[in-house]
Amino acid sequence: MTASPQVKLKPGDTIGILGGGQLGRMLAMAAARLGLRCQVFSPDPDSPAFDVVLNATCAEYADVEALELFANDVDVITYEFENVPAATAMVLAARRPVLPAQKILETTQDRLIEKDFVKRLGIGTADYADVSSVESLRAAIAKIGLPAVIKTRRFGYDGKGQAIIRQGDDLAKVWEDLGTRSAILEAFIPFEREISVIAARAADGQVESFDVTENEHRDHILRISRAPAQISEALAAQARGIAEQIATALNYVGVLAVEMFVVQENADQSGSPKVLVNEIAPRVHNSGHWTLDGASVSQFEQHIRAIAGWPLGKPVRHGEVTMTNLIGDDILGYERWLTVPGATVHLYGKGAPKPGRKMGHVTEVTPARK
Ligand code: AMP
Repeated sequence: MTASPQVKLKPGDTIGILGGGQLGRMLAMAAARLGLRCQVFSPDPDSPAFDVVLNATCAEYADVEALELFANDVDVITYEFENVPAATAMVLAARRPVLPAQKILETTQDRLIEKDFVKRLGIGTADYADVSSVESLRAAIAKIGLPAVIKTRRFGYDGKGQAIIRQGDDLAKVWEDLGTRSAILEAFIPFEREISVIAARAADGQVESFDVTENEHRDHILRISRAPAQISEALAAQARGIAEQIATALNYVGVLAVEMFVVQENADQSGSPKVLVNEIAPRVHNSGHWTLDGASVSQFEQHIRAIAGWPLGKPVRHGEVTMTNLIGDDILGYERWLTVPGATVHLYGKGAPKPGRKMGHVTEVTPARK
């Protein structure tokens, strides 16, 4: 799709990370283990990633001077969130390689462009339609049916910017509440389970995906991930193939996550389960945190290797893995988790717990029997 800049770092070089949350923090920790330094750029003075790096830039993403100084200090730039403003990416990309390439953000920041891209690859998604007014919402419902899910095209996450529409709902109100002029309507998928695949791609085209993860949400926020997903080998191969196909089609360098639904329906003539893509995240992902303790190489290390121009690892899973997010007040129970045999506790060093705020996670690995 788009050529990615060539990068070859050596130990001691510096990676710039846009975004200072827990993902940036865990990326920086993985880089440190490989002898690479990181500099984090974030507008939030309380960024958890600042705690683990020597050099940080606390400035707005629109601060061109700060961006230029940051770019001068680093050898390659990556990001921990997909909503990097286009202007920010442009300023940086003019000075240093940005990986994954800036162009990828245009595809993944907009749900309609992303779904069109996935569809063009011949990969299944929920039926969807572009919606820009109450009238077009009515037309979309006539085409797709109800129940359906309406989502803002941009800036939605953890269930924000979306609503389920059911028979009899007041469409004018639904549209007003969504508060946007660009949305998509998706058919509601009565999924059997939600899964995701974390895949890494190197500049030379090498692709390595992790075993499929099964995800359980609570209030739209990921609560528990389990690897491997309890699905057939054929379905797992299909899911991994889809993520690898997407990474290759994007000419991607780094780690991406593809969230999918497993549906058991007869629409597929064979009547067997099939996979539909819900969303692509052009970054390391919460559903891949299990890889920190549950695999020979983590998603964070894979990302660092990819953007450094180093060979990817061949991830070997250590057993059956469960990752539990500590959300909001869950963090208050961290001492109990510290005493659970076999559990590995990760706390993100955030301030006060707020409802829905991801404060840490715990991994439990049941070793595979030899
Ligand atoms: P998203 O922001 O697209 O990742 O959606 C957040 C969550 O909403 C997903 O993990 C699903 O649990 C649910 N969801 C999203 N889209 C659909 C859909 N088309 N049908 C059923 N559930 C959905």
